[in-house]
Amino acid sequence: MSIGSKIEWLKKELPAHVTLVAVSKFHPAEAILEAYQAGQRIFGESRVQELTGKHKALPSDIEWHFIGPLQSNKVKDMAPFIHTIHSIDSLRLAEEVNKQAARHNRIIRVLLEIHIAAEEGKHGFTPSGVKELLTEGNIHSFNNIRICGLMGMATFTGDTTRIQTEFHSLSSLFQEIKSSPALKNAGYFNELSMGMTGDYRLAIQEGSTMVRIGSYIFGNR
Ligand SMILES: *Cc1c(COP(=O)(O)O)cnc(C)c1O
Repeated sequence: MSIGSKIEWLKKELPAHVTLVAVSKFHPAEAILEAYQAGQRIFGESRVQELTGKHKALPSDIEWHFIGPLQSNKVKDMAPFIHTIHSIDSLRLAEEVNKQAARHNRIIRVLLEIHIAAEEGKHGFTPSGVKELLTEGNIHSFNNIRICGLMGMATFTGDTTRIQTEFHSLSSLFQEIKSSPALKNAGYFNELSMGMTGDYRLAIQEGSTMVRIGSYIFGNR
């Protein structure tokens, strides 16, 4: 199947309330254009240099999402155009995104990444860490970021019960935070970014609003 027909298939497959982020990392601009021509406008990248190169080369109405580990000193390169950053994992990083967004008179949408997987290497706040972050309140003074929700990655395993449990706990945390008085502007807190090629159906069952799908669309990296 072509990239275009995969995009079309996914549009029918995904419920209307679920946003598709087409994860194009490590794939060339031509592959992104094929998806673009099939109507896809939201693309996710995980390396800053690759992202900025593709942003320059591709149509300006693409909505770019950053989904990978992010170093503070790289934020400035994407600040002029990035739409949403899914991988905010510290107050310091949020502060830097806020500062760089302000320099460009922009508001950047951010998701707080939560560590739900059993694997050590993955990034993100613990559930108690994110609650502390929102209660301490410094983050609410950052006027150039908008906290739009949470992101998480399940353990890479064939054990679907485990994946489901992890997604379920992220979803509960999301609901808890959304209704917590510590959260300012809860009206913007609507996105639960979870689910990739191998586990997006489980993620949607557990309440995902945004799936990040790469290899199904573009093939192996
Ligand atoms: C690469 C990546 C994806 C896409 O994974 P696939 O299994 O190729 O769909 C999703 N989310 C993050 C954070 C990624 O790094």
